[in-house]
Amino acid sequence: MSRSLSCYRCGDRYDDDTRVRCACGEPLWIDARPTASSWDDRPDRGGMWRYEALLPIDRPEGVAGAAGGTPLVRTPGLDDATGGRAFVKDEGENPTGAYKDRGSAVAVPHAIAAGDDVVGTVSYGNMAISTAAHAASLDRECVVFVPADISGVRLELIAQYEPTIVRVSGEYGKLYGDALALSERHPISVLVSDAPARISGYKTAVFEIYDALAPETPDVIALPASSGGFASGVWLGIRDLESAGLLAERPRVCLVQTAAADPLTRAFEAGATEPTPMSPDETGETIAHSIGNPDPPSGARALAAVRDTGGAVVSVTDDEIRAAQRRFAVDGGFCVEPASAATLAGVSRLAERGEVAADDSVVLVPTGTGFKEMGTGEAAVETEAVHRTDLSDRLESLLGSRRP
Ligand SMILES: *Cc1c(COP(=O)(O)O)cnc(C)c1O
Ligand SMILES: [Zn+2]
Repeated sequence: MSRSLSCYRCGDRYDDDTRVRCACGEPLWIDARPTASSWDDRPDRGGMWRYEALLPIDRPEGVAGAAGGTPLVRTPGLDDATGGRAFVKDEGENPTGAYKDRGSAVAVPHAIAAGDDVVGTVSYGNMAISTAAHAASLDRECVVFVPADISGVRLELIAQYEPTIVRVSGEYGKLYGDALALSERHPISVLVSDAPARISGYKTAVFEIYDALAPETPDVIALPASSGGFASGVWLGIRDLESAGLLAERPRVCLVQTAAADPLTRAFEAGATEPTPMSPDETGETIAHSIGNPDPPSGARALAAVRDTGGAVVSVTDDEIRAAQRRFAVDGGFCVEPASAATLAGVSRLAERGEVAADDSVVLVPTGTGFKEMGTGEAAVETEAVHRTDLSDRLESLLGSRRP
């Protein structure tokens, strides 16, 4: 089913649903116009395709059917750190371990339906892995543009799906604009971070949170932000719920950035509606490699999402991210990647500022699994060695004191 695209800022509409940006410069998204009845009639099936009526394509075959449907887990162990009642929307449980699958599940088949035989993307992380997996599942060719100095581990994760991997030299940050131009000139859809069909897929995360918490509605939804694509999807989901008459109050969208590259935090604090791109010498290194876009293409829209919902944008340091990652594991049992752990660090900051009430439901969205990242660093793990015949004695001393 074909839908029109619209611009959140100037309201202009377009019928060409392969277009990515409005004439005013801002990114577009696909309208769904939900009603209360489109909500009630949704099919009782797993994953994000429960919300098929609000998506621009019908459920495709293959791995896309496994996207979404991630659990929302009440996690009291993280209440202290969030200042409210903590819930974890574990997006690491998607087929390739990140929320990106929600977007690829819609955008890859959408591009194929629009007549492009080949899809592509500009990424050396989760978006590359996810796009390649969805293209493979539909037996389509995929071209992935990675930076020349990509690490071996990342290359291996992407290469397992056998896309064509092109190492690009020159300024990698400029590839967003190049990708749009290449898609116009060649029979390929290079699905950038905020391709409109991706945003449609991302909004289903909000629908699932709404359904899982009902009849309560979430007070805070916290997620990491880089290009602003996921934040846009979350906002679109909130707007759809509102149009359907289902939301009395909008959840506050809280975005977390790495202090190494935080143009959105800077703009938020300055009261600006658009981020100012950060130059290479202002941009630092971070362990949170999935975030840190110095020139976010959906930055202004992400800021609008935050302001429209009464949320906030905060930045956190790598040390805070490491501590939060540990906390996710030790106090919650979750293995999340550093970019995702930033979410908890950011909410802790808001709680310290008194911006979270004790009875607020706080939905943390760890966007990606930590399992992909294990084995790539120096783990400082203390263990002991014990001979098997001495295990009983060892347990005696370990557990003895706990016996009643
Ligand atoms: C892509 C990604 C992000 C950032 O999302 P944007 O849509 O670029 O803002 C955050 N966390 C993880 C794990 C990601 O893969
Ligand atoms: Zn516009």
